[in-house]
Amino acid sequence: MSSFIDFVALKERVSVEAAISLLGLNLKQRNGQWRGPCPVCKSGGDRALVITPAKNAFYCFGSRTGGDVIAFAAHIRECDAKQAAAFLAGDGGEEKQDADKTSESGNTSNTVPEERNKGDTRSLQPLTYLQPDHECVRALGLYRETCEFFGAGYAPKGIMRGRLAIPIHDNQGTLVAYCGRTTNDENPGLIFPKDFDPATLVYNAHNVTEAELVLLRDPLEVMLATQNGIDNVVSFLTDTIRSKQLHLLAKLMDECGCESLQLA
Ligand SMILES: [Zn+2]
Repeated sequence: MSSFIDFVALKERVSVEAAISLLGLNLKQRNGQWRGPCPVCKSGGDRALVITPAKNAFYCFGSRTGGDVIAFAAHIRECDAKQAAAFLAGDGGEEKQDADKTSESGNTSNTVPEERNKGDTRSLQPLTYLQPDHECVRALGLYRETCEFFGAGYAPKGIMRGRLAIPIHDNQGTLVAYCGRTTNDENPGLIFPKDFDPATLVYNAHNVTEAELVLLRDPLEVMLATQNGIDNVVSFLTDTIRSKQLHLLAKLMDECGCESLQLA
């Protein structure tokens, strides 16, 4: 008979910071974060593992994954969430019946989408019907708050239907398009409106504030990294990178005083 560990209570009781020593990791503290090499991935360099106490989150550049304290323990111990939770709970642990924690807050709005302001083709209105807490969104590892921060959500209709719709902004933060990211490994991974050229922008450039820039593979990785305490992350919006995109990235680096770029 297996009993359930109360994941929520466990996460409140064991912080990611406390888990560092429980997991036997030797990390260095800097700017409110703990960093060090990842003993599992053995890639991503000396600062691959990032623990952000303020977000109670971990992120590993080696595998480009992150999450809460349970995901942290699961990553380092290479086990599943249940085993990780049992480890964090200690011998005997806090084992009790798992209450039903799934909240169906039902974020369905029936507002009619107004994709573009009439008479102004440059200004795009945010889609109001996206669902930031849809099960497909959760399955991607995204929290509702992260989706809300980025303005993203599951699209139940429209041209992004069945995908995670992610707003794309220009460097000034103006919404210029949405891209639709697959939630189930369909090809192509990202789709765009016909009138939008994804090679004209660096994703998330408008959120860059510091001189340390990290380039990730796609917008979902940017959202997950941000969720897990990594700032100043950007990505291209295409699989194949054209020279004009590298120019855009170089320009962005100049603007934020970034001398070297971290590839993850
Ligand atoms: Zn790792």
